[in-house]
Amino acid sequence: MKEKISAAFAKTFGRAPTVVTRAPGRIEFIGNHTDYNGGPVLGASIDRGVCVAVAPRDDARWRFASDYRGAIGEPLDLPAGEPARQSGNGGWTNYPLGVLAALPAFDLRRPEGFDFLAMSDLPAGSGLSSSAAIELASALAFLELTAQHPDRTTLVQIGKHAENHFVGVPCGILDQGVSGFGKADHLVHIDCRTPSFDTVPLPQGVHFWVFNTHTKHALVDGLYAARHRECMDAAKALGVDLLVQATPGALDAAHDRMTETVHLRARHVIEEIERVRATVHALQFNQLPEVGRLLTASHRSSQKLFENSTPELDFLVDTLTARPDVLGARLSGGGFGGAVMAMTGPDFDRRAANAVVDAYHQRFGACPDVLHMQTGDGAAVL
Ligand code: ADP
Ligand code: MG
Repeated sequence: MKEKISAAFAKTFGRAPTVVTRAPGRIEFIGNHTDYNGGPVLGASIDRGVCVAVAPRDDARWRFASDYRGAIGEPLDLPAGEPARQSGNGGWTNYPLGVLAALPAFDLRRPEGFDFLAMSDLPAGSGLSSSAAIELASALAFLELTAQHPDRTTLVQIGKHAENHFVGVPCGILDQGVSGFGKADHLVHIDCRTPSFDTVPLPQGVHFWVFNTHTKHALVDGLYAARHRECMDAAKALGVDLLVQATPGALDAAHDRMTETVHLRARHVIEEIERVRATVHALQFNQLPEVGRLLTASHRSSQKLFENSTPELDFLVDTLTARPDVLGARLSGGGFGGAVMAMTGPDFDRRAANAVVDAYHQRFGACPDVLHMQTGDGAAVL
């Protein structure tokens, strides 16, 4: 990838880059709506990502190019200084610009001028967090160019700051945390309350298949807000700040202090937090079938208790988990549409995936996109 982006950089800017970086996309492994309840989540950094190449300029210009729309076009040429939001074709530059906008908030300097190229093998808008990947690859590139080396947690927070404040997406810490702390053959474990990050080994030979339905509930933003509110209502009825502080026993005892709906939502979150902990435990003992069982149990809880699944996602999970070569499957991400991920051994192959797609097509008259991946390393200077 380094040779490829260096050659493309030379073609675009007429010289070699001085820094090349790469940051991966991620899969939400388990931990559904646990983040804003202060709970833990497990994510997998994948073997697809975004590469960034940069070289300094001394004329106070920031020039941006990418392969985002297929062929690499004319660079967008902006004056260095205070980043201004872009729209239209240059809208993608809001991710690196958001990183530049964030740097002073972390007492870090911006580069004075540079040429910038992004190239990716990670589809954008497919729930694999290409946004966090481009943020982290950009942040590492700008920091390397200016010889500044903050710690990983700061790098992750810079990416999140860019996405929350400049791009304007109120994402949690999962995407940037996994891209920043990822490691091949590991999962990233995030305690969202602190937040703090560590990794848990995953046995080699685990494969991931993501089936993206490209469906999205029309009311998704309102449904998210409603789930958030219900969780906070449950915490209040339980006398805690966040549901991570509550136990299943305490929830049972408080049953008559909340509505049935609020009780179901809280049960999902409290049990999901237990499932994340059980997954970490099972991984310590290499119990992959148990991990698979927990993944599917997470989906059933989304389906029945949190009610953030859809008939399309349920169909995929039912079809996938009926196969002996699938260890477990669940909706991945916020739900109300989107994607299902399956954890499989090496026997599940393209033919098996096509059989799932055919069944889905017969039922819904549309085909989900299928991506096969394994774990990969986190953000790095190449
Ligand atoms: P996701 O993070 O799930 O992929 P988002 O909508 O959060 O979806 O982020 C996708 C956006 O990230 C794209 O619309 C684009 O602006 C930016 N992006 C992703 N990959 C690239 C790339 N290779 N070059 C430039 N911009 C990219
Ligand atoms: Mg994103």
